[in-house]
Amino acid sequence: MEKKIFERPYIKKIRAGMPSKFGKPVKIDPLPFIDDLPVEELIKQYGSPLFVISEKTIRETFRKAKMAFETRYPRVQFAWSYKTNYLDAVCRIFHQEDAWAEVVSGFEYEKAEKNGVAGNKIIFNGPDKSLSDLKKASENDSLIHIDHFDELYDLIEVAKKMDHKPRVAIRVNMDTGVYPIWDRFGFNYENGDAWDAINRIVRSEKLELSGLHCHIGTYMLSTEAYRRAASKLGELAVRAFHRHNTLIKYIDIGGGFATQNTLKGAYYQGYDTAPSFDEYAESITSALLDVNFPDNKLPLLILETGRALIDDAGFLLGTVLANKRLSGGNRATILDVGVNNLFTSFWYDHEVNPVKDTSDHFEESTFFGPLCMNIDVIRDAISFPLLRKGDQFVIKRIGAYNMTQWMQFITYRPNVVLIDINGSTHVIRKMEDLNAVTAGESVPDHLQKI
Ligand SMILES: *Cc1c(COP(=O)(O)O)cnc(C)c1O
Repeated sequence: MEKKIFERPYIKKIRAGMPSKFGKPVKIDPLPFIDDLPVEELIKQYGSPLFVISEKTIRETFRKAKMAFETRYPRVQFAWSYKTNYLDAVCRIFHQEDAWAEVVSGFEYEKAEKNGVAGNKIIFNGPDKSLSDLKKASENDSLIHIDHFDELYDLIEVAKKMDHKPRVAIRVNMDTGVYPIWDRFGFNYENGDAWDAINRIVRSEKLELSGLHCHIGTYMLSTEAYRRAASKLGELAVRAFHRHNTLIKYIDIGGGFATQNTLKGAYYQGYDTAPSFDEYAESITSALLDVNFPDNKLPLLILETGRALIDDAGFLLGTVLANKRLSGGNRATILDVGVNNLFTSFWYDHEVNPVKDTSDHFEESTFFGPLCMNIDVIRDAISFPLLRKGDQFVIKRIGAYNMTQWMQFITYRPNVVLIDINGSTHVIRKMEDLNAVTAGESVPDHLQKI
């Protein structure tokens, strides 16, 4: 029999906390493999920390989402939200699965072009589109989603010099029963701005109003909010037809579906509260199917789902650097994964799994990152068995927003490895080195010598 590891005894304060009705986990399962590859081997080969992305999970998740909508509505198109994860390899998996590109900047637009996405399959969102961005997107016949009146006037000027009408939609924000309302993007429905924008677009005779768009928030737990959003856009489409004889060809419901990650401060675990793709699809499609669209023709339904399509496919692997006791007696564990790489730890209580079996003794601990900075906390107050220096762990559901919002701060960003559907691994973003980080810098002559 293997010798039991010694754990130093400690005094534990009993707190009569409120357990949720699902209880506390009695054991944290180890996670030794990702897509049948040993985590230990992955770290040995590619270093620690390490981002790992499962192509299999991306494709399976995408197909599940697509199926949820296509079984309920005849015309569905997904567009991959670049800002959620714009590593080229990731984008190309979605494009192979037939997703268009949804971009929110000139940079992301260039990335989509470089990934081979046809201009007419790029949706251009966001409040920051330069004149040259607008010109290029118009020339490429992309779908330009107008955010505000100033942009509308810019675009009309651009369109005057075109020999075809740019295809546009307006982004609409509205009261969906979820507060605060996300009203900083697009035109408001309730105050009449959205309708005013529609009038101005049609009356300009320079633009083709093809669609209506909304993106009501992110990590939205209410499927009812989507039903309201879909109804309001449907209502605008009907009104545009009756007033202007304009046929709205597509309704874009944006993204925002929640994942099974647990938000900080949430009472229940994310996997108990996040609606399924089927539940979101049911609300959205039943609202659209109920709209009395002109000629009884259903518009194309576009979805810009980001986080819910990629979160589960991403893993962050790491290693324990040290343990220590804080002044109050609490256990602190220092990880080689910090908030510079795991930006979403500011919003989520990320689920951490040990790679190997642990003891059954849980102690409230804080997981710190390696940065010399006080806010570098990956989990505070996590009840966890002892991890020793050198022990490895896996943080699950981190595919969304980390590989775009990560910071180059204090350390190099690590390798990102893709496990393909045959189980082969590929570095899809190489770990940074000094050259990669300083490539854009230059030192003036008078500072050459120190
Ligand atoms: C960020 C964003 C998305 C994706 O949102 P998720 O919450 O990740 O699904 C979709 N559309 C627009 C306009 C966005 O800004």
